Order: sequence, then C-alpha cells, then structure tokens
Amino acid sequence: MPAYSPKKSTLLIIDDDVNLIRILSQILKDFGRILFAVDGDHGLQIAREHNPDLILLDVGMRPMDGFEVCRRLKNDDRTSNSTIIFVTANTGMETEVACLNAGAVDFITKPLNPPVVQARVRTHLRLKHDSAALESQAQRDGLTGLYNRRYFDKAINAEYSRLQRHQLPMAIVLIDIDYFKKYNDTYGHLAGDVALRAVAHAIEAATKRPGEFVARYGGEEFVVVLPQIDEQTLKQYGQMICHEIRALEIPHSTSETCQHITISAGLAHGIPAIDSSPQVLIDQADQALYRAKRLGRNRYEIFSAQNKSKVS
Ligand code: GH3
Ligand code: MG
Ligand code: MG
Repeated sequence: MPAYSPKKSTLLIIDDDVNLIRILSQILKDFGRILFAVDGDHGLQIAREHNPDLILLDVGMRPMDGFEVCRRLKNDDRTSNSTIIFVTANTGMETEVACLNAGAVDFITKPLNPPVVQARVRTHLRLKHDSAALESQAQRDGLTGLYNRRYFDKAINAEYSRLQRHQLPMAIVLIDIDYFKKYNDTYGHLAGDVALRAVAHAIEAATKRPGEFVARYGGEEFVVVLPQIDEQTLKQYGQMICHEIRALEIPHSTSETCQHITISAGLAHGIPAIDSSPQVLIDQADQALYRAKRLGRNRYEIFSAQNKSKVS
C-alpha cells in the first residue's frame, strides 16, 4: 500500500462564518490544499468539481443548513463517498446523533481546539486513504496487476449501460495466448508466469485511449473494452495488438505457429441494443476468438453474423 501523505489532500470547508474559515484554514494549513465556501450551494458545487478528500461542514448555516448539504452530498453519485466532519457549537447528544445519522464520520465542536481538530482530520484522512487503497487492491489481479475478473464484470455492465443510453458503439476483445500449455511444459510454470506478465503489460501499454481498459479474464486470457470505437479502428487495434505481442519476441520453441509467443484475438463490435446485455458481445468475441484459433492462431478475427453458423 503506498504510504499515506497528508500533504496531498484536498480539504473543503463549508461555513457561513468567514472568521471560522480563516481559523480552520490556519489550523489545517499543513494538510494540503484548502478550498472553502460560505454557503451550501457553493459548497456542493465545489465538492462536485474538486472531489475533496474531506469536507468540514458547519451545521448551523442559512438558507441551507449543514444536514441538508450533507444529505445532498450523499445523494449525488459524484460526491456520495465524501468524508464529512460536522463542525458545531451545539454539544448536545441529540446533535451528535443527528450528525452521525446524516452520514458524517465525525464532528468537531466549537470553540475549536487546534490539536483535536488536527488529530481528527489526520485520522479520517488516513482511514480514507487506507480504504481506497484496499478497494483498488481488491480490483487487481495478483499476478499481472491488471484489473481482475470481478472488476471487469462490474465495470462492463456500467459501461454497457452508459453506451446503451447514448446509443454509441463499443467493442469487446478477447485475447488468448497461443499454445501456452506447451510453453509451460517447455520452460516451466515460473517462466510461464513471467511471460504472462509481459504479455499483460504489453496489452495494457497498447490500450491507452480514454475509457479503454484491460482485465485478466482468466488463466492466459485477457479482455479489452474499447468504448466509442468504429469498426475500422477496431480492426487496426486487432492487428496492432497481435503485432505488439509478437514484437516482444519471447521465444516459444514448441509453438506450432511461430517461434515466439503469439496471441489470438476475437473482436466483437456493436451499438448496445435496448434490453440486451454485454454478454451478447462477450459471446460474439468468444466465437471470433474460437475462429481465430481454428484458422491457425497468431491472428485476430472479428465477429460477423455470417460466420456464426460456421463456428457454432
Ligand atoms: P491454445 O493455443 O488453444 O490457446 O492452447 P493453450 O495451450 O494456450 O490453451 P489451454 O487452454 O490448453 O491451456 C492454457 C494453459 O495456460 C494451461 C495453463 O496451465 C496455463 N495457465 C493458465 N494460467 C496460468 C498462470 O497463471 N501461470 C502459468 N504459468 N500458466 C497458466
Ligand atoms: Mg485459454
Ligand atoms: Mg491459450
């Protein structure tokens, strides 16, 4: 897990008392960048634009009080994972409970005690950092560092729905290393792991347009999601990715198709139809991959309905 560094944080103070903003900014100056807003509306706007690591939120503001700001932050996808600490002059138990129930992680009471404020902010920044690091680790495959299958299953549904809504095209590419069992048999499983990692990194390095992502689909198979791509560019991608892996020139003396490690790729392309699911595209990419294997490996094939009967 990367070391936690408070200097990199962005904090947002929302308070209608400018003097209090000044004091809090001074207390928290060593934590990183400090943004502020003097009313709820501006606070929400800044939170949406800057996605701060932590928000210090005054309870008693007008016209929108802190509870309402908190509720709106939590109900908006762009800000729902904000870490919120309420700042309140009211030390009653009812207020404490209301603050925590509203979705805040903690509260700080006025008058402000600088070491207490700093300690609470530090603790919550560290917790946020650690849980974000854990979450991103859970999305990764241990051997290759690529996104894992679990992440792919979730991300593909979200991406498919988005493109379905806008009726924009997308492609799915399934990639499988050729004769990899023979590679393991010839060079050993450890060398197999090293080769698998090299192939994974090469695919990732070659897949860099915004929104594109690569995941390990299983064993020696990878899946690539290419949003908003036309068929011609997709074919160029298929050609390029096969070339990039051959160009690694990883010797494979027992491959029946080439003296280096190669891949086969199955491409599927389309505009997500209403009421359909990404599984349709995945199945089509799988059929195209099967065809690439059957036609001799070390190549890509793109799914077309005409070929369907031949490969089924
Ligand atoms: P094809 O060209 O038809 O794809 O043949 P293949 O040998 O690549 O396919 P097959 O499905 O028969 O074998 C896949 C091999 O991939 C067998 C398995 O041991 C190996 N493999 C899967 N995951 C890993 C891994 O994490 N590390 C290593 N070293 N090998 C792996
Ligand atoms: Mg396989
Ligand atoms: Mg294989």
